[in-house]
Amino acid sequence: KPRLYSGMQPTNDSLHVGNYIGALVQWRKMQEEYDAFFSVVDLHAISVPQDPKELREKTRRTAAQYIAAGIEPEKSTLYVQSHVPAHAQLAWVLGSITGFGEANRMTQFKDKSSRYGSDATNVALFTYPILMASDILLYQTDAVPVGDDQRQHVELTRTLAERFNSRFGETFVVPEATIPADSARIYDLQEPTSKMSKSGESPQGILWLFDEPKAMQKKIMRAVTDNDGIVAFDREAKPGVSNLMAIYSSLTGATPTQVTAEFDGRGYGDFKKAVAEAVIAELEPVRARALELLDDPAELDRLLAVNAARATEVADATLADVYEKVGFLARR
Ligand code: ATP
Ligand code: MG
Repeated sequence: KPRLYSGMQPTNDSLHVGNYIGALVQWRKMQEEYDAFFSVVDLHAISVPQDPKELREKTRRTAAQYIAAGIEPEKSTLYVQSHVPAHAQLAWVLGSITGFGEANRMTQFKDKSSRYGSDATNVALFTYPILMASDILLYQTDAVPVGDDQRQHVELTRTLAERFNSRFGETFVVPEATIPADSARIYDLQEPTSKMSKSGESPQGILWLFDEPKAMQKKIMRAVTDNDGIVAFDREAKPGVSNLMAIYSSLTGATPTQVTAEFDGRGYGDFKKAVAEAVIAELEPVRARALELLDDPAELDRLLAVNAARATEVADATLADVYEKVGFLARR
């Protein structure tokens, strides 16, 4: 089976419907055809300030949501990044073949560092893409399903893999990014031109997986739309309605054309009610299952430990090969 690697940062108590549709739904499907590795990337999370106690809990909660959404820890390898030391070790080696200027061109760093200011920005945020390259290359990954926002980082990963291979001999598989269709990109309900984000500050615009059904219903009914009353897909002219259609389509399988026909001559109120119903029907069982898993943290930790052992085996083999190739003296 070809290999797959992906992950999410435990930067919030809850994932959102964008993470669900844009990532988890793809992961769930792809785990059937791939030998998949899904990580909760806590090393990445500390590239912005984290409260230690909360980080631990957010890490568990993120793992619980993966499982609740259908990632099967017996089929896929679902683990916590910091449990596998090779991630940080390979990142150091890859840093030695990354140009400063090359790293300096990454737009996520520019975006996030301008949000925090240069004194509050740490060096880990700058080296984030090198750690991400390490995550992917350790597992000899073929496919990396990520959102459009991560395309540049996967491109850098490919460059580093090719550079290492040509300098030191064939070592890494050169991975491909698998970017889902545009309809899998979900926007803020109140600000439908900016993407829904875990670290976003839009209390009414983000649909959290841990939201109560009533809260979800309220947010959807109050979502920003427009005045023409027609349920039609047009990201430019009708970003709010298009976003709701994208959510509805991806959950029900109906095409935009079918959705337009279904709600022809009915108002946005009816349409929003249907969207809320679809979202709640899909996510309420996910929420319930995640809460159930969190009721038994010892069992969750045990599952994560078993999976980390599996990940370590693969990762350590790659790291040993790398250490040998770059000329580190073996410890005998
Ligand atoms: P943060 O604000 O902490 O960066 P995030 O919501 O961007 O949080 P990540 O952990 O960075 O989430 O990304 C997890 C995965 O979810 C990635 O594959 C990313 O591309 C995808 N993703 C994030 N936001 C959206 C969205 N609004 N729509 C679709 N996919 C998304
Ligand atoms: Mg992000």
